[in-house]
Amino acid sequence: ANNPHKNFPMVPRIVFGNGCFDQLPTILNKKRAVGAPFVYLVDDVFKGNDTFINRIKLKGNDVIKYISADYEPKTSQVDVIVTELKEEFQLLPSGIIGIGGGTLLDLAKAVSILLKNPGKAKDYQGWDLVKSPAIYHVGIPTISGTGAEVSRTTVLTGPEKKLGINSDYTPFDQVILDPDLTKTVPKDQWFYTGMDCYIHCIESLNGTYLNAFSQSYGEKAYDLCKEIFLGNLEDEESRAKLMMASWHGGMSIAYSQVGVAHAMSYGMSYVLGTKHGIGNCIVFDKLEDYYPKGVALFKEMKAKHNITLPQGLCKDLTEQQLQTMVDVSLGLTPLWENALGKNWQEVMNEATLKALFLKM
Ligand code: NAD
Ligand code: ZN
Repeated sequence: ANNPHKNFPMVPRIVFGNGCFDQLPTILNKKRAVGAPFVYLVDDVFKGNDTFINRIKLKGNDVIKYISADYEPKTSQVDVIVTELKEEFQLLPSGIIGIGGGTLLDLAKAVSILLKNPGKAKDYQGWDLVKSPAIYHVGIPTISGTGAEVSRTTVLTGPEKKLGINSDYTPFDQVILDPDLTKTVPKDQWFYTGMDCYIHCIESLNGTYLNAFSQSYGEKAYDLCKEIFLGNLEDEESRAKLMMASWHGGMSIAYSQVGVAHAMSYGMSYVLGTKHGIGNCIVFDKLEDYYPKGVALFKEMKAKHNITLPQGLCKDLTEQQLQTMVDVSLGLTPLWENALGKNWQEVMNEATLKALFLKM
């Protein structure tokens, strides 16, 4: 507790703008070591999209690994990729490039850390457990909202917990923000992942950890979300603004925390495999007691875009499953403390949380 104020790292380089993805080869050339490949982890939604893939301009022994985002990243998946890369190449890669949504960005961050640190990915889930700097890593989001492009964490599901690798070595060395890359995102997914950003803002701005740093980013992201989801922007402007909202939302929680929706959706995802974006929406929809204004606005956005959320996900759970959901969720102390204050246990307990889950 000698250093109560976090000294946190930021992404040192960022390119922004439509078409800037084409600058990737030039950026990488400066970082290329002789004989050491660049490894591209690419969302398999882009497999077969040659116009897009050809823009990567592979050189030497560079390799693309297509990865499905159907499931959120697992620690075991990171370990497999790291082992493969060590077997395939004599040298460590020149860098890892993640291209996709939060799933691919988190995988790229984790792989770059594990290539330089011994053991398994699960050993590093927690805070500041990483000892050696990661390999050079680049993040290129193709869908906006999570803030994974700017954050100091990489969220992984392990054998015992769903928890991030939070470390000074986690953030990307370079980020490429090209709003055009998000053109092909399906509407529902656009909404779910966009709402992740909106919920980051609500949880940060209504949390007890709030400070001027977080507020300044959170308010900007919140205003952008209102324009994007309730205004009448042109598509191009909307894509660019959502990309920046995601960035600001991520910056806002960097110096504060998320809250009730994230604590609950982590529990839900651990038991049911519900994905982050839609899971947050399902949970947030029922949180009017905790975030009255935020939830009211969320319902307006949902209506405007004709989004219907699944209902009744928890009603058929076994007692054991419900208990695990509650345990995983209540284990996230900082999130509850941010949301409800130091004495959060007076407001939230197993019974209250179970009842809340049963509404979902
Ligand atoms: P995602 O990466 O799982 O992608 C969602 C869907 O959109 C997938 O089906 C994917 O194939 C598709 N998609 C992505 N880009 C596309 C495009 N341009 N065109 C068509 N389809 C496209 O979703 P997400 O919501 O971005 O990320 C969720 C993940 O992010 C979770 O694993 C969550 O834990 C993580 N997350 C991390 C942080 C962090 O700070 N590290 C923060 C929030 C969430
Ligand atoms: Zn989130």
